[in-house]
Amino acid sequence: MNVCQSCGACCASFRVDFHPVELAGGAFAWGQGVPKEMTLPVTPAIVRMCGTDTAEPRCVALAGEVGKAVACNIYDARPSPCREFDVEHAACNRARQRHGLLPL
Ligand code: SF4
Ligand code: SF4
Repeated sequence: MNVCQSCGACCASFRVDFHPVELAGGAFAWGQGVPKEMTLPVTPAIVRMCGTDTAEPRCVALAGEVGKAVACNIYDARPSPCREFDVEHAACNRARQRHGLLPL
């Protein structure tokens, strides 16, 4: 199993902001695009995944239990910041540490 499928810490640590063109129906949507109802408008050029800017962030699209077994409910349509983030990212281990997981 991919290590991320038993982690999910980044989906429950950081704000996830992107341009509204990646929303469903947008010109640069991946797959079906991100459902608008899963986002909040921040500025005319920024939308945010719901749940990612709270004191204990957790993206609304994250299913499962962090550190055990997780999945993204909109994986094929997830926005660009999620596509750019992986285990090579410097913030990966910060997120894991935040959730009491060992560094990779
Ligand atoms: S914090 Fe790192 S290991 Fe965990 S899901 Fe994100 S990229 Fe994968
Ligand atoms: S959209 Fe999916 S990959 Fe991106 S933060 Fe939310 S649960 Fe994680």
